Amino acid sequence: MTRTLDTTPLPWHGDVWQQTLNVFRAGSAGHAYLLHGEADTGKRHFATRLAEYLLCQSPLPTTACGLCKSCLLNAAGNNPDLLVLEPEEGSKQIKVEQVRDVRQFLEMRSHGKGRRIIILDTAESLGTSSANALLKGLEEPPQDVVFLLLSDRPRAVLPTISSRAQSLRMPRPRRDEVLAWLLTLSEQPSVADLEQIIELAQGRPLAARAIIDSGLAAAYAEIGETLLALAQQREYPLNVASRYNKSHCLEFLTMLLHWLAELSKFRMTASAASLKGQALLALAQSLAGTHETERQQEQTLALLQLYNRVATAQMQLVGTTNPNTQLMLEDLLLDFARLFKRPR
Ligand SMILES: [Zn+2]
Repeated sequence: MTRTLDTTPLPWHGDVWQQTLNVFRAGSAGHAYLLHGEADTGKRHFATRLAEYLLCQSPLPTTACGLCKSCLLNAAGNNPDLLVLEPEEGSKQIKVEQVRDVRQFLEMRSHGKGRRIIILDTAESLGTSSANALLKGLEEPPQDVVFLLLSDRPRAVLPTISSRAQSLRMPRPRRDEVLAWLLTLSEQPSVADLEQIIELAQGRPLAARAIIDSGLAAAYAEIGETLLALAQQREYPLNVASRYNKSHCLEFLTMLLHWLAELSKFRMTASAASLKGQALLALAQSLAGTHETERQQEQTLALLQLYNRVATAQMQLVGTTNPNTQLMLEDLLLDFARLFKRPR
């Protein structure tokens, strides 16, 4: 069975999409492009859509048709004219053996109308020997072969590779564009929850979508409520610690870390403009209770110190050390609640 092929580019890629299609239609395209831009903003999506368009046998004015043989093969994920190269699971590097697949691919003939595409995700995961193995193909590719190299960190791409590709900068979307896009997904949390998720994902749309797809949106909303309850002393730190020690401990620390960063910023700039969500605003208000400069400075320092400790705890949790999470959470949450206590 074939799934329907979504052939449209992401909304914030509109301009770069149109410009790229124009170059290909005018016949002035290069044979290798380095698509670079921030992680989780849709570079792979763009490259896939472009590959589908370039391989499509009867493309529409701005997208692949979604119906021809080539499009159906793409939808099924087995178009022989498209090769995707990425690090194997558990590895950060593209291995030399994988690059040999490219050579083999380059020696074959096209199955469709002549064009063939290689997507390399990501270009900085090519070590020196893999890069060398790829070089010949990149220098003298057969006609109608297009390399689409992706990178979050173009400066980390070996110069032998990047110098042979044209640079194509992929824009990052504005927050309102991310929100509008997330709202088009079927099962969506409320706008307020979405704004919170976008903040947590640092404005990166695919990271936000991953939070929603993994079913964690509700968990994050609940964590926000819990942090507010802690600050308002409606919850005991020790109870909260034992609850999150059992589940969503990492999410709890992630959210706490993010909020401490937001609150520190708020304390230092005295502006609530960037604070998203009711719970975070309420927290900032409880923090803002004091007008004494000395007390404010104490708070800023305490916020930053706690931020560092939460960051360390988070690293320990995802790292190889096996921390006592109950004690760790208790410790952090007692100090978190203390931040909001009125001086006697
Ligand atoms: Zn097609």
